[in-house]
Amino acid sequence: MNFILRVDDICPTMDWDRFGRFEKVLSQYEHIKPLLGVIPDNRDVRLQIHPPRADFWDQVRRWRAMGWTIAQHGYTHEYTQRDGGILGIGRQSEFAGLAYADQFARLQAGKEILIAQDVWAPYFMAPSHSFDETTLAALSDLGFTAITDGYGVFPYRMGRLIAVPQLFSKPLHFGLGIYTICLHTNSMKEEQFSQLAQAIARHSANFATFPIACLDSREGMVAQGARHLTAISLKAMRALRRRRSE
Ligand SMILES: [Zn+2]
Repeated sequence: MNFILRVDDICPTMDWDRFGRFEKVLSQYEHIKPLLGVIPDNRDVRLQIHPPRADFWDQVRRWRAMGWTIAQHGYTHEYTQRDGGILGIGRQSEFAGLAYADQFARLQAGKEILIAQDVWAPYFMAPSHSFDETTLAALSDLGFTAITDGYGVFPYRMGRLIAVPQLFSKPLHFGLGIYTICLHTNSMKEEQFSQLAQAIARHSANFATFPIACLDSREGMVAQGARHLTAISLKAMRALRRRRSE
């Protein structure tokens, strides 16, 4: 059983104090290398928290040099569609619902920025966990090999890509498989950073990197059963939560 740490919404105007807090938590664990979702060209006003850092791309290259994995987190992070996509987690999307040519163009524009900055890797993190079959086809045509999303407890094939499941934002687990802990440092409270520090201390021997996890895709009955069960229960939980908040 292993965990992957995933951080969404990395961009020049993110909350740098909070991200610094996250880096501090990890500083004692050189072997834990998170997956960072970097937005190529952020235009989402909700992520304009601090003034833009001029050395942003130097920072990204520094994280990569530390062995941290970079995933492309959309293109501009603007939600143009009301579409939860295949997973049905959020209700908005930068991609799901758009035509292939539009999706391909946005993904390619993002990829070109990351390539120009020498930080591109073939991994994709969909804003709001929302993508559709067309997104998967465009990603594959652009050379992406894996996404950080999906149900179950083992990586599996989704279209022509590998999907590494992401179920919880906390270090919950069922004892076997791989669990991606999804963090939005921009909105984390001090209490959540200390909880994270405690959880990492407790499970520090059980962390994997995203690229290594991608190699362990499984299609057996246990893997498929876990996918089915987690999809049903998480969809039900989220629907309940949505109904409560309405
Ligand atoms: Zn995001």
